[in-house]
Amino acid sequence: MNAQVSINESVLELTSDGPRLKGMRCKNCGNHVFPYQGGCPKCTGSDVEPVLLGTHGTLWAWTIQGFPPKAPPYLGETDPDKFKPYGVGYVELPGEVKVEARLTESDPTRLKIGMAMDLTLVPLCKDDDGNDMVTFAFSPSTKGDA
Ligand SMILES: [Zn+2]
Repeated sequence: MNAQVSINESVLELTSDGPRLKGMRCKNCGNHVFPYQGGCPKCTGSDVEPVLLGTHGTLWAWTIQGFPPKAPPYLGETDPDKFKPYGVGYVELPGEVKVEARLTESDPTRLKIGMAMDLTLVPLCKDDDGNDMVTFAFSPSTKGDA
């Protein structure tokens, strides 16, 4: 089995316990931001720390991406004939932040606002060594409500 490589290590860390998103927590007001940034947009404080965000949340809003996105540079399938639509949504991590992410589910009849979601990985392409380059996504939870 080939190794998995994070497509962007500044936002996605592959830990032994599974994928984690790298966010920021403000020590002044408790605000969470994803991805990490060096200052708090809420209180403008700079006393912030990097945190690994939760992996379980609820679907807050979603849509279906029906064509290959143009920007930022997209590493998945760009041939419109081979492209498969996928869900995109905001998942609210309780007590933390809403994260915009790809969804593993692309059937609109199976997506519902407020449903429980889990963080997972999806392969985008291979690197030069044959490793899977992966990005993060949320899938309908198998663990029940958030
Ligand atoms: Zn703050």
